[in-house]
Amino acid sequence: MNTPLPCKMSLHSDGHVHTKYCHHASGEMESYVLSAIAAGLKEIVFLEHMEAGVHYFETTWLTEDDFDIYFTEGKQLQGKYRDKIRISLGVEVGYSPTHKKELLERLEKRKWDRIGVSYHFMPLPEKKHHLNLVSRKEKNIFAIEAMGCEQILNNYFSTLTEAVEVLPGTVLCHLDAALRFQPGIEIDKHYLGQIRKLLQAVKRKDMALEINTSGFPIRNVPFPAPFIIREALELKIPLLPGSDAHKPEDVGRNFDLLQNYLKNIDV
Ligand SMILES: [Zn+2]
Ligand SMILES: [Zn+2]
Repeated sequence: MNTPLPCKMSLHSDGHVHTKYCHHASGEMESYVLSAIAAGLKEIVFLEHMEAGVHYFETTWLTEDDFDIYFTEGKQLQGKYRDKIRISLGVEVGYSPTHKKELLERLEKRKWDRIGVSYHFMPLPEKKHHLNLVSRKEKNIFAIEAMGCEQILNNYFSTLTEAVEVLPGTVLCHLDAALRFQPGIEIDKHYLGQIRKLLQAVKRKDMALEINTSGFPIRNVPFPAPFIIREALELKIPLLPGSDAHKPEDVGRNFDLLQNYLKNIDV
């Protein structure tokens, strides 16, 4: 049996919230702020989608013009709610090995309160479009099946490790959420070697690991799985909670479950 490790994490901040500006979330930024205040949070961190060079049938990220509006509105809200809650303006940057220069330049241009690193879109060999690894849409599920889940996950972990090394990230988002809607697929200890390499890169970069509560409705536990949390704690990597809210009422969702979960898991 594993010796218990201390698993402390402040649950007063929701570190991963989207806005309508990413084109697949709904609700005004102010509604998210009000929802966070109602939930008794001391901080809300907007972490909006940045992608580069992705060919996909819909746009699920912000353009630079969208980011301009996001910052203008975010700063107004920081002033308006100064006495009630801390509002942080960050980015969830989806890595692209072919577009690192563009991503680095765009990140450099602004002052982010937090830079989350993730990898959502994988280029398909010999095709012009990308595969969305975190989608529940049937066409992605079938395409993933056709390519082979193991091959995709190997690519996912090695590319994410490269992302951590290349980007100026401060937190690694939903580590094992890739293929989360693929029937019968679970990221288990088969991938431990790659996960360890990834976490060692996170440690070298002084980054945190996100505990993402959007996992609860899908699989009853957050992302990442307990064996990964344990590896992170062994390396003394700080943990940060996030809801990945795409609608205002989801801010701080399942933080109550997370509190219990952290008390009871044998990490
Ligand atoms: Zn999203
Ligand atoms: Zn997100």
